[in-house]
Amino acid sequence: MTNFQGILDTIYETAKATKNKGEVANYIPELAKIKEDHFGMYLNKLQGEDYFVGEWDIPFSIQSISKVFSLALAFSMLGTKNILTRVDVEPSGNPFNHLSLLEQEEGIPRNPLVNSGAIVIADILVSELKNPKEDFLQFVRDLAHDQSIQFNEKVAASEAKTGYNNFAAANLLKSFNNLNNDVEAILDFYFHQCSIEMNCKQLSDAFFPFANQGSCLKGNPHLNKNQVKRINAIMLTCGFYDEAGEFAFEVGLPGKSGVGGGIVALLPGEFTLTCWSPGLNDKGNSKLGMLALESFTTQTQLSIF
Ligand code: GLN
Repeated sequence: MTNFQGILDTIYETAKATKNKGEVANYIPELAKIKEDHFGMYLNKLQGEDYFVGEWDIPFSIQSISKVFSLALAFSMLGTKNILTRVDVEPSGNPFNHLSLLEQEEGIPRNPLVNSGAIVIADILVSELKNPKEDFLQFVRDLAHDQSIQFNEKVAASEAKTGYNNFAAANLLKSFNNLNNDVEAILDFYFHQCSIEMNCKQLSDAFFPFANQGSCLKGNPHLNKNQVKRINAIMLTCGFYDEAGEFAFEVGLPGKSGVGGGIVALLPGEFTLTCWSPGLNDKGNSKLGMLALESFTTQTQLSIF
């Protein structure tokens, strides 16, 4: 039997002993206040016990991990076809906030997990939801089975103040007629979705449907099998921006990162796994999180390959 706890403990010790833990994101001033020496992991197995280590219970800013939830909600409301006319599903090979490709490709973002793609999904949700921010937050709470999950208003305001790149992306999308609502309203929604705070357990629980054919921890269906297949494929090919190839190569799981230092990955039918370590590498992904997940799949020999 695999000694999951022993493996997590070893990864934790190695992470704690590593001197260069990467740099916390500072382009969103509120996020620059976090110390890089936090580290936590939470493994939710579909069958059997959960395993965890370190600061798995401290909430952090999920940032781009929220793009998986917004995509899931949009898919579940509209189906996949209606969305893919406005955003593609190809890896970008570029950073998450890259703009020139968007101009070249006439306002059709490469995929829903880069910022411009997530802004199109945010536009769709602003059109479709009655109370967009509240309804989206409720969807995330229901996935995780945890009603305590909240936005961090300070982080949302901080990003709104300095989010010049996202305003540029949204204006470019608008100029190509790929946004229906006002840029301000869409970005207010987008900055709020990114500001949601969750801990490693809540994220592993909320990602459960992607490993469990669409049904959450309590067995309630949120997505159908085809939607789950497609979301997992997008995570595998696009979840880490210009490091997606590296993540597939080293870790071998679909997953998603955020500049808050979180990474969630999953093995369909087996587990979801979250790691939080706020220091980032130069691609904007958690430096120690990438190493931790590589170590986990190498030691357990559990990956999609
Ligand atoms: N809110 C962040 C942004 O738009 C999300 C980026 C990320 O986590 N990669 O820049």
